[in-house]
Amino acid sequence: MKTQAVKFSQYPFIVPTEKRIANKLEKLISDLKECGSARTATLAVKHWNKYGEELSTQLSLISVKYSVDTTNKVYKKAQDRMDELSPLISKYSNDYEKIMSKASFRKDLEKVYGKYLFKMYDNALKAFDEKIMPDLAQENKLVSQYDAVLGGAKIDFRGEVLNLPQLGKYMQDKDRSTRKEAAQAMDKWLGEHEAEIGGIYSQLVTLRDSMAKKLGFKNFVELGYLRLGRTDYNAKMVKKYREQIAEEVVPVCQKLYKMQMKNLKIKEPQYYDYNLKFASGNAQPIGDVNYIVDQTKHMFADLSKESNEFINFMVDNELLDLVSRPGKAPGGYCTYFPTYKSPFIFANFNGTDDDVFTLAHECGHAFQAYLCSGIKIPEYQNPTLESCEIHSMSMEFFAWPYMDKFFGEVSDKAKFAHLSGALQFLPYGISVDEFQHWVYEHPTATHDERCAIWRDIEKRYTPHTQYDDTPTLNKGTYWMRQSHIFGSPFYYIDYTLAQVVAFEFFLLDRKNHERAWKKYVKLTKCGGKYPFVELLEKNHVKNPFEEGTIKKIISPLSKILKSIDTKNF
Ligand SMILES: [Zn+2]
Repeated sequence: MKTQAVKFSQYPFIVPTEKRIANKLEKLISDLKECGSARTATLAVKHWNKYGEELSTQLSLISVKYSVDTTNKVYKKAQDRMDELSPLISKYSNDYEKIMSKASFRKDLEKVYGKYLFKMYDNALKAFDEKIMPDLAQENKLVSQYDAVLGGAKIDFRGEVLNLPQLGKYMQDKDRSTRKEAAQAMDKWLGEHEAEIGGIYSQLVTLRDSMAKKLGFKNFVELGYLRLGRTDYNAKMVKKYREQIAEEVVPVCQKLYKMQMKNLKIKEPQYYDYNLKFASGNAQPIGDVNYIVDQTKHMFADLSKESNEFINFMVDNELLDLVSRPGKAPGGYCTYFPTYKSPFIFANFNGTDDDVFTLAHECGHAFQAYLCSGIKIPEYQNPTLESCEIHSMSMEFFAWPYMDKFFGEVSDKAKFAHLSGALQFLPYGISVDEFQHWVYEHPTATHDERCAIWRDIEKRYTPHTQYDDTPTLNKGTYWMRQSHIFGSPFYYIDYTLAQVVAFEFFLLDRKNHERAWKKYVKLTKCGGKYPFVELLEKNHVKNPFEEGTIKKIISPLSKILKSIDTKNF
């Protein structure tokens, strides 16, 4: 199937000019406009998609090359240029969607492509109009401003100047006074930048609210959901889901936190104490990056024939860039080059237990892209974000039986940290979500009112968090550090929804591995053909929105955690 694979280093680096993009897209749009029947239109669509593949490959390559080396001037220039051109590309996409959605022969096209594609177009059209283009540009600018403030943080700490992630390492230190000092340094920085960051957010909220009103919505909530392509669930269902998490998961997590502090022998814990999972420190992989990749190869070879093909394809074609280096952008992601049918994984390995789970996670995304590369309609290749995270988060659990290969004698410690961390993520995830609903339902609230609401939410969902040593955080400002709140409104609950589904795969895998894996591959192969709830239904997976689902899934997890003896960790 993949006989003529091209290695990553051989991909030609092409920076398309504005003229070329505009000419191409203009021509493709006018061809489509002239079509009088579904038959002729399908040909125009084919041409549109073909150029779309080419352009998207070029754009992905620019962004990958830039993130791999942000100090390279050529890549930086290309990336800046593409950022400038992105509204132009959006405008043409919007034209395309408009023609498709309003075609007089739409019914015939729906027979060819399926109704869901047109539902996606209808939604995208509701969320966009040329009159909000300047607002969208302004929105991007504000988000970049926020990124620059956080990314540019320079904090004096014990004679060193550190950025936020570097300081974060000290906040997990085994020595309590180091943790405290680091947390106070962070708090001081946050206090000094509170007015600036809070001000950026106020502008973003006002702007998003006004865009929503220009498009005819009551406030930004519905528009935010549309922008994420959510077609089969709404804010009301999400609220009920949060209530389930509050009821079933919050108490379990509080018990875990109590046990953690007991093991650490800390009497009056502060928020920074919870960063330290075990008195002896976290589990560490027993080998370097090459070792981890080798073990991951063995794991995929053992899981199935197609996952074995997949991992060899990734390794043989240089599609993994894993080690942290100076000049490399932070974080991790998976992207895709349609022309070569290649996924690509970017990460920043630093020798912690995270490396193992990050690779499994990103491989889950990449495996989906690989399996779906044959889907002809590009919109059906990529699912919405909550579905995407099912592929990745479930893969983390399919890796569990192989943990002794990665961690040797401390594999139980790694497993315990992974599962308890996944559970403890849920209350935080719903906090971020509930906060944003409140914010956009009360768009004229002041910064101080927002902080008060955040602190109130924390007291309900993560009541163990104490900020006695850190006055700025005590005011309710922790949300200012969560970039999704600024850059991707309402995208956060997605991780929690996917986490719940991943737990279900985990439990099934422990009972019947073959069935679980088969079910997982089948769901993954669906790609973006269905919206979230329908995807679950089609694959007989429990719906997290349904009353009772959370309870059913959470109670066996507590048992698994209890079965691991943490006293000697
Ligand atoms: Zn992910």
